[in-house]
Amino acid sequence: MSLHDGRMASTNDDARLEGVKLQNPSTPTKKPQSPKPENAITIAVSSRVLFNMDLEQQIFNQKGMEEYLKYQIEHETEPFAPGPAFPFIKALEAVNVQLRELYPDSEELFDVVLMTNHHANVGLRLINSINHHNLFIERFCMTGGNSPIGYLKAYHTNLYLSADSKKVIEALEQGIAAATMFKREKAAEVSETQLRVAFDGDAVLFSDESERIFKTQGLDKFFEHEKAHENKPLDHGPLKGFLESLGKLQKKFSAKGQRMDCPIRTYLVTARSAASSGTRALKTLRSWGLEPDEALFLAGAPKGPMLAKIKPHIFFDDQMFHIEGAAELGTVAAHVPYGVAQKVPLRKKTKDTKEFD
Ligand SMILES: [Mg+2]
Repeated sequence: MSLHDGRMASTNDDARLEGVKLQNPSTPTKKPQSPKPENAITIAVSSRVLFNMDLEQQIFNQKGMEEYLKYQIEHETEPFAPGPAFPFIKALEAVNVQLRELYPDSEELFDVVLMTNHHANVGLRLINSINHHNLFIERFCMTGGNSPIGYLKAYHTNLYLSADSKKVIEALEQGIAAATMFKREKAAEVSETQLRVAFDGDAVLFSDESERIFKTQGLDKFFEHEKAHENKPLDHGPLKGFLESLGKLQKKFSAKGQRMDCPIRTYLVTARSAASSGTRALKTLRSWGLEPDEALFLAGAPKGPMLAKIKPHIFFDDQMFHIEGAAELGTVAAHVPYGVAQKVPLRKKTKDTKEFD
């Protein structure tokens, strides 16, 4: 548990959080209604990225299913500690509170779905944990080991976060924005009132077409190619739609005069350099009508230190070394296993044993 989580619990007097404040966490009394999936921006999270379940997984690995279930039931009233996606989900809810204030009748809100391969008998502990942390999650999909893809589609999922890269790859192949999250060793403090989301460019917002030139023909050819195609927008990448959804909500705030102090802020954090290859990136975004609030062209410099200044709730990148670099400095980084960079084997080993997600 980080300092950050403690601070969240102490914001009771914050009027904007009034809507999510509950008298008694275990028996919520007044909660707003969930929006219809087709109107909402739906974020599906697995239980293992929302909560820290390392100890339980260890029990399963060492003692097997029976002992594991017994442990979960015996500890049913003990809430799980926050996991890597927790601050992000909390920030979505803080944005929702502000949206509901400005647009009481609108269903254009974030909606969080818990997507887990756990059995129903772990469900009570998950419900208790959600209520304990004052999270607003009404939709549960307990898939019991089946693929979550069908459910993700049924919920019109705009973003899927999981600890299982195989499921994430499957979702990406079906055109659903998705990313893998990892255990966090170190967590920087993040804003409680402003949601900050940072995106890499190539193979995240954009397709990997230029990345492929760079990987196969080198940096000079890449610059040449980008110069020659400066006015040809790049094809869209797996996370473009999610940036678009954030942009849609941002417009709702600016329509009410909250452009400068918008509770959503987006960032492009790319290894491209401004002068030689940045033009095409910016022109592409403009052609889509998307405008990140800040664009950082690092010209190959490490992303970690910049991200440590931005303090995003989540940063998306397709390359593991950027993920690791960001995580080392306390940024919650999510891996988008898409494009040419994935041909390089992942440094993190995936185990063969069953993992609850
Ligand atoms: Mg990239």
